[in-house]
Amino acid sequence: MVGAMATIVVCGLGGTIAMTAVDGGAVAPALTAASLVRAVPGLAGLGAGLEVVDVANVPSSSLRLADLAGLSATIAGRLAAGADGVVVTTGTDTLEECAYLLDLLHDGPQPVVVTGAMRSPALAGADGPANLLAAVSVATSPGSRGRGVLVAFADEVHAAVRVRKGHSTRVTAFESPVGGPVGYVVEGVPHFVAAPAARFVVPRGGELPRVPVVVAALGEDAPDVPADAAGLVVAAFGVGHLPQWWAPPLAEAARRVPVVLATRTLAGPVLSGTYGYPGSERDLLERGLIPAGLLGPWKARILLMAALAAGAGREQVAAAFAAAGGLGDAARWPWPVRGGART
Ligand code: ASP
Repeated sequence: MVGAMATIVVCGLGGTIAMTAVDGGAVAPALTAASLVRAVPGLAGLGAGLEVVDVANVPSSSLRLADLAGLSATIAGRLAAGADGVVVTTGTDTLEECAYLLDLLHDGPQPVVVTGAMRSPALAGADGPANLLAAVSVATSPGSRGRGVLVAFADEVHAAVRVRKGHSTRVTAFESPVGGPVGYVVEGVPHFVAAPAARFVVPRGGELPRVPVVVAALGEDAPDVPADAAGLVVAAFGVGHLPQWWAPPLAEAARRVPVVLATRTLAGPVLSGTYGYPGSERDLLERGLIPAGLLGPWKARILLMAALAAGAGREQVAAAFAAAGGLGDAARWPWPVRGGART
């Protein structure tokens, strides 16, 4: 426990965890955060004082960036007012992006824990109550402090920067392909198996700008970069490879806006100097693209948007990816690094 009676704020965004049956047995968001909390046996036994906030009640596919920026400000306000931790319930479809954006903008030591459900309350074996119980136990654990935003799902605890939805239907849908979970909930108690990592916090900036992700596909034409895009993320083949005819137009785009090179394999790094043909990672980086390191395309998009909103120019964006990309350049982070051991 963080204190004798920790105060944990539960923020509801919607998602399957909050859905009930509508026409024909299909489900849609309806339940408030208060009713989610009421439905969990054992929550009272955690000894936390729970407060609830209904931020939204939508499928997470329809969340807007402004909803998440607003949620981040709400979380900061509640923590500044004395809450000991926050739990966010949301849809699993975009949970990995939601968690990472909240992580980049969360500059305090208090735990913020995101969860959801793969089976709605209308189904046998609904996993929402167990996930919410685990999330509150993680939010009240002293071991969670200083770790930024965590994801509690199926009794695993994941770092926001690494977690992804890796299966469309399993109750164990969430995974951290690089490094694995940072902890586990065992008999209701969180246990961490990884030390707290360095935290890369982006100063809260203005509106998050438009950053499209384009995904490479065999034989496809080079993408058009929309005129209003403030940056671009390319989900390339393998270690960072594209059709060679994509290289000149992307080099041209990279002269105007930051263009980040990630991998569509969704696990593992992009490389920098192994392959040397047109469209290879070395060729693309020489043409001005910025390597995402270990960040997948959707995490890279979130970091690029947050950095641009904070006023970062191309060099700062490149430095941010060198640090948060996880390949050993933590000291290049353009803003103060919080906690953890510098790697
Ligand atoms: N469609 C749902 C959502 O993301 C799926 C879920 O919550 O698991 O809102």
